[in-house]
Amino acid sequence: MKAEVKLDDLPLQDGEGRKPSAAPARRERAAHAGRRSLLFRLASLFRSKGTFAHGIHPAYHKETGSLPIRRLPFASHLVVPLAQHIGKPALCCVNVGQEVSRGEVIATADGRISLPVHAPATGVVEAIGLMPAASGKMEECITLRVYQADGQEVRVRKPRDVDAMNRQELLAAIQHTGLCGLGGATFPAHVKLDVPAEMGIDTLVVNGAECEPFLTCDHRIMVERTQDLMRGIRYAMRASGAPRAIIGIEDNKPDAIAAIAAALPDDGSISVQALETKYPQGAEDTLIYALLGREIPAGQRPAAVGALVNNVMTLAYLGRLLPAGEGLVERVLTVAGPAVESPGNYIVPIGTPLRFLLEQVGATSSAKEIILGGPMMGMTVSSLDVPVTKGTSGVLAFAAAATAGEAPRVYPCIGCGECVKVCPRFLNPAQLGLLSGKREYVEMAAQFNLDRCFECGCCSYVCPSHIPLVQQFRVAKAYNRKNPVT
Ligand code: SF4
Ligand code: SF4
Repeated sequence: MKAEVKLDDLPLQDGEGRKPSAAPARRERAAHAGRRSLLFRLASLFRSKGTFAHGIHPAYHKETGSLPIRRLPFASHLVVPLAQHIGKPALCCVNVGQEVSRGEVIATADGRISLPVHAPATGVVEAIGLMPAASGKMEECITLRVYQADGQEVRVRKPRDVDAMNRQELLAAIQHTGLCGLGGATFPAHVKLDVPAEMGIDTLVVNGAECEPFLTCDHRIMVERTQDLMRGIRYAMRASGAPRAIIGIEDNKPDAIAAIAAALPDDGSISVQALETKYPQGAEDTLIYALLGREIPAGQRPAAVGALVNNVMTLAYLGRLLPAGEGLVERVLTVAGPAVESPGNYIVPIGTPLRFLLEQVGATSSAKEIILGGPMMGMTVSSLDVPVTKGTSGVLAFAAAATAGEAPRVYPCIGCGECVKVCPRFLNPAQLGLLSGKREYVEMAAQFNLDRCFECGCCSYVCPSHIPLVQQFRVAKAYNRKNPVT
């Protein structure tokens, strides 16, 4: 799809839209020149789109991308897990019966690779114990009964002068926000940004690709919270030592590209680049290749090629929470899918049970399959008692007919090679699938680089025999993790 950016769609610059007082003609000419220059910059961005080899073009269903973010009401009870991030779970520091204020720390970080948890609502602690989690396991949670009559302002905050902080103080302050990767990776933000100087990070890559079908929360954040994002990028550059940042955005979001292009600083330290709309454009290695032309060697991290990747949602919340001295108590996420009557992007308190969330958006009784995240890499949940957590970027509801009722029959591999043509990691999914059928999981890793597979699902998507390749690879990887070769 060729994206078009119209002059009238561009956001107003400071001073535009007001009645001119002195020298109106000069001001008008300057404003017009500014707009023309921005338009030229945008046109050149769209001409030189970054991309990567292979990948797929699924149906995107991005209709909610044009809807403004809305706020959902509070559920009567919020269920807040202590483990919402990669790393050690937080340590509960409240008791049953204790009243808490919105924003108050209710669980403290347990060491460096851990995050505090803040009360998402003013209320009272009703229970502390095991509750169903998205993983399918029971996990330790704090259940709050929400004071519905309360205005639910964030009461506990400590505004900070971020510019006056040194790097260690900055990283400590980021940990205090409880922020982890909000794109779904949930890696603690302060740990990710704490890159040793000797690693020589030269570029902060800001991920605004949002390549998963249905998900549009990153899109709306870029359009509606542009200044938070720019502030968060500057904090992340200081914390990581990266001297420049590049924001990569798929070209199906021209309004986001325009909003960001209009907010870029004059010193050239932050730039924006349009990317081809193609899945999985937002994966770390494909994004780095598309923006910088650098390939990450097998088994290594982006730092090996001087890059650090952060998601736009994470950085927008960083820019919002850090100067306000607040903890993460809510997030913006997409609720969509054929079984949802009012799809959109919503501000949802952490701990909101899916059942309540789906009732609010009119998810009909035909919603039989619920996916957290996107349809390509998200996970199906089995209980509506599971709460929204920091890593929940989307909740998708599908009717039964779209899943189980239409589950395609699986046929043998016909050797068409379609899966090989789309794999962004240049693996041989057909060969891996054949070995998986024989349970030769160790051979899959040793000879065919199973560990390079990041479960994007492109191979399964195109397979005409409907072989559930990615599911097989997940099983094989889990087996190898439990049974390491010594
Ligand atoms: S799921 Fe793995 S093997 Fe399949 S296309 Fe993606 S990276 Fe390649
Ligand atoms: S796409 Fe499916 S049928 Fe074709 S080679 Fe790959 S596994 Fe075999």
